[in-house]
Amino acid sequence: RDPLLRIRGLKTHFETAEGLVKAVDGVDLEIPRGKTVCVVGESGCGKSMTARSILQLVERPGRIVDGTIEWRPDADSDEVVDVTGLSPKDPRLTSLRGGEIGMIFQEPLASLSPMYTIGAQLSEALRIHRGLSKAEARERAIDMLRVVGIPRPEQRIDAYPFQLSGGMCQRVMIAIALSCDPKLLIADEPTTALDVTTQARILDLLGDLQQASGMSMLFITHDMGVVAEIADEVVVMYLGRVAERGTVEQIFNDPKHPYTRALLQSIPTGGKTDGVRRPLTAIRGMIPHPQNRPTGCPFHNRCDFAVPGVCDVQLPPTALFDDHHLANCHLYDEQGDGVHPGAAVDG
Ligand code: SF4
Ligand code: MG
Repeated sequence: RDPLLRIRGLKTHFETAEGLVKAVDGVDLEIPRGKTVCVVGESGCGKSMTARSILQLVERPGRIVDGTIEWRPDADSDEVVDVTGLSPKDPRLTSLRGGEIGMIFQEPLASLSPMYTIGAQLSEALRIHRGLSKAEARERAIDMLRVVGIPRPEQRIDAYPFQLSGGMCQRVMIAIALSCDPKLLIADEPTTALDVTTQARILDLLGDLQQASGMSMLFITHDMGVVAEIADEVVVMYLGRVAERGTVEQIFNDPKHPYTRALLQSIPTGGKTDGVRRPLTAIRGMIPHPQNRPTGCPFHNRCDFAVPGVCDVQLPPTALFDDHHLANCHLYDEQGDGVHPGAAVDG
């Protein structure tokens, strides 16, 4: 296993006037070549901040205080870049952002400039990262709009973002992100602002584009229905930490962590992206404020299986099940054998 990206012990903290917020607090994550890793969790769990840390896009007062983020662009070479060691002006970072790593966000209209045509914005990326001439960039931009399924791209290229629907704008963002043939696409809730039909189309499109290009994808979502649709591997996050990690089959067929089980219960039966979803508030209790991180397991105040005197006191150990499947939970010992009653519950 030679991942494209390997994050170890990442801590991204915010020093605010009200106190220290440990938005990301010791996250390990690997993105294999050509695969889609979904990071899933409720808002505030640190999933977006993990993604932003990869591109050094954390804004003050936040900063990466610990950990490594290793980028291995080429499976056949020994080149390893620790992204956390790159200064903001390092050309290596510029080539990562929007070049080797493409990024799309939840709100396409907030990411596109209202002042420029979509063609101008697409061409800019191509000229910066690819050194294309104006005419070449325009031609490639039209090709890219066609690839992402925008009808009549020769005309649409001269449209401004406000002239397009949300779904079309998200396709433009995908076109921009993919225009430089990234090795990794980071997608942060890219379909959350879209209606369910458009959402399903965009997910299909991303799946097809990935198959065609062989790129890896880091897909961030709060929605287990989306995970089911698109993931090869899943990382479940809660309050800045990894609760569970596994293949999509392991997570859906044999979930180990009570939080993962609760997330799965929030998906309506039979529904992937075509049904109406129950909100994640189906999980009882409130997410603690990140400034008031509970002692012990961060999930203990909402967990139906919490072991008194243990879960509220000690950080959970890492239980390793089959192969790549792990959970941080007191219900298991480090070999993955159940040591408390909740372990045997079927997901
Ligand atoms: Fe629940 Fe305890 Fe496991 Fe945390 S460590 S998820 S409180 S059983
Ligand atoms: Mg977010």
